[in-house]
Formats: sequence, structure tokens, C-alpha cells
Amino acid sequence: MSDESCIFCRIARGEIPCRKVYEDEAVIAFHDIHPAAPVHLLLVPKRHVESLQTVESGDGELLGKMLLLAPHLAREHGADDGFRITINNGPGGGQEVFHLHMHLLGGPRPWKRGL
Ligand code: 5GP
Ligand code: ZN
Repeated sequence: MSDESCIFCRIARGEIPCRKVYEDEAVIAFHDIHPAAPVHLLLVPKRHVESLQTVESGDGELLGKMLLLAPHLAREHGADDGFRITINNGPGGGQEVFHLHMHLLGGPRPWKRGL
């Protein structure tokens, strides 16, 4: 998957619209187009990283930044009593978009699917 055709690279470049909730120089976060829970955000590095299967030790800061962002976004979107972070990696892990992303799920249950 090239950066040209990658859907999350295109969203990060502003070529495809999204319901953006956060952006800085390294990370963008937006609502999942098919929410599986009342709060369902995707936290995405702007740089094309395929999955945790391909991260390198130098990506630690980026990954830490994304995890540290999660509780702030959860609170901002009303997931006050807790949230779930899911990262699907590779076809065997159920990954469908091969640009690393964290699902942030929260809000009143029941949720549509477990993810
Ligand atoms: P994965 O299965 O790769 O972990 O999750 C990919 C997620 O991306 C899915 O939950 C899917 O609904 C979401 N998604 C796919 N295409 C788009 C899109 O164009 N915009 C947004 N906002 N979400 C998308
Ligand atoms: Zn990409």
C-alpha cells in the first residue's frame, strides 16, 4: 500500500474529509465512519506506518503520544467511566486498513461489536 492510495494517509493530508477531533504535527484523530460504540474514535499517526508488526524502536515516542492522548479524547467525548483501546494488526488480527490506528471505544453499552 503506497502513501498515495492509503486512505488514512489521504485523510491525514486532508484529501478525504473526516470528522476530525484532534490534530498535531504527528497525530490525527477522527470519528470512525462505522462506529461500533457511542464513542468510536481512530487515533492515527500522520506518517504511514503499516501496523505494530512494522514499528521500530524509534517509534516509541509516537506510540506513547497516541496512548497518552487517548484519555483526554475519551473525556472530551463523554466516555467518563472508561474506554477501550484496540489495535488490530495484520490480516490475522482483523486489520482492514493497513495504516496503524488505535480504536478508542467508549460510551453507554451495549456496543455493536467487540472489536
Ligand atoms: P481496522 O479493522 O483496520 O482495525 O479498522 C479500520 C476502521 O477504519 C474501521 O472501523 C472502519 O469503519 C474505519 N474506516 C475505514 N474507512 C474509513 C474512512 O474513510 N473514514 C473513517 N472515518 N473511518 C474509516
Ligand atoms: Zn497510510
